Formats: sequence, C-alpha cells, structure tokens
Amino acid sequence: MNNTIWPNVLPRPSNQKLSQIKSISPWFQIFQLNKHTYALLEPFQAEEVISYLILGEDRAILLDTGMGVANIQAEIEKLTQIPVIVINSHSHYDHRGDNHRFDEVWVYNNEWEVERLERGYSIDQCKEFMQPGMYLELPLEFEIAEYQIRPSSVTKRLTHQEVIDLGKRSIIVHHTPGHSPGSICLQDTQYDLLFTGDTFYPGVLYAHFQESNLNDYIKSVHYLVGLADEIDHLCPAHNEAYVTKEFLFSVAEAFDHIKNNRKVKSDESNKTEYSFIGFSIKL
Ligand SMILES: [Zn+2]
Repeated sequence: MNNTIWPNVLPRPSNQKLSQIKSISPWFQIFQLNKHTYALLEPFQAEEVISYLILGEDRAILLDTGMGVANIQAEIEKLTQIPVIVINSHSHYDHRGDNHRFDEVWVYNNEWEVERLERGYSIDQCKEFMQPGMYLELPLEFEIAEYQIRPSSVTKRLTHQEVIDLGKRSIIVHHTPGHSPGSICLQDTQYDLLFTGDTFYPGVLYAHFQESNLNDYIKSVHYLVGLADEIDHLCPAHNEAYVTKEFLFSVAEAFDHIKNNRKVKSDESNKTEYSFIGFSIKL
C-alpha cells in the first residue's frame, strides 16, 4: 500500500487537528478554522477539493462550491443566515459544481473563466471525474449516471487587488494566473489567511494544462511571496485546509529551480512531474 496515494492518505493528520463540525451530508467534512471561517472538504473523491466559507458581519463569501455531488448550499445555510456571495478561485469543475444554486457568482474578469462557468460540464465530460477508483462512498441521493455540472451566470467580474468589504472583514482579490488564466487568491486581513485556490496546495500542482502558463505561474508565486509578511497561514483548495505560509517560499524556489534546469522537450505531449518536499509540480 502506497501511503502517498489517495485514498490511503486519509484521514490527513493536519486536518485532524482542526475542529470538526457536523455536516448534513456525509459527503462533506466541515472544519472550523476560527470564529468566522469554515473549510468544507470533499475527501471521498480523489481531488479532495476544499471550499471555504468566509464570514463578515454583513455578508459572507463562499470561495468555490465543490464538485456538486452533494448540496453545499444546505451546509452553508446551516452555518450562517447572512447573504452569501460565491467567488470562484477559477472555473475548473471541482470548484464550481454547486454554483447554480446561488444568485451571486463572482469570478476574475477573464473571458476563458467566465465562458466556462457559463457553459458547465456535460454528463459525458463529468464521467471522466467519476471513474471507478476515483471516489469512495457516494451520497445515497446522488445519481452517478446523471452527474453533470450545470451552467451558472457570472454576476460580477473581479479585478486585481479589489477589496471586498464583508462588514468588519476585508478580503483582497489577487490575480495569480498560471494554473489557469483567471486564477485568484483571496487575502483575509482580519485573520491573516491567504486562500490560495489551485495556485498552491500540498499535492501535485498542475501547470500542464493547455490553459496553464509556466511563466505566469512563476510570476504569481513570487508575487505571493511579496505578501508573506501580511500572512499567517495558507488555506489551499485541495487536501489540507490550514498549512504553514513557509510553503510560499519553497514553491517559489521550486519553480525557479525548474525554470533554470528544465530541458525543453521536443515531444510536448510528454508531461513531467517534479517532486519537492510536501508538493510536486506537473508540467
Ligand atoms: Zn484547477
């Protein structure tokens, strides 16, 4: 048994240190990070995606809506009664599955991301994410043969360094392209958290997609290093909900190492994974 491969990694020790809240659906594991922040994990699908509920006094952000396998809105309604705005870190399927349940959906002002959110994923496309071996027990009410990700309307386009006032809590939007062209990170100035989306998580970072851009990714991680003094912990979009900010420095170093040592291959289809301590990078 390889302990680094899902699902053998479950339960993840760092998540077990967090305080767990009872969820409605067994599909979610909910952890409270502080009085005003919750992490909603979906550990029973291989991506182990994480969405976050960020509460202010007047309104809240739901950063990503997960895979849409179980109803995330019902979980959110149990946690807060204030108005909730969905913000997508980017438009990949595992971060926007339940967008369609919400009235407000905000995303970075990038055509590629907006177009994908407004298009959705068909039943055929969704089959790819739910192949045997990619999931454990599914919720009883979930019909795997009908699994699709519905389109959602983008109601606001975000800009770089825009500040969102939630009422006694300000969130700053940082455009961090690389993984995808409109990827963002959110900086929380109240608890000094950085929600890193897919730009960083402890796992295999994907810089190999057609929509990925290595030079942009490198610039983005160096930009995030510049914010490190204002940050205490990272809240990534996969695997672990609360990790040390020191990862920012090691990821920047890792990308520099790749850039300086990489031999450009003639066969572009040949993907390579570079391993570092605590994460790896796929190009
Ligand atoms: Zn992604």
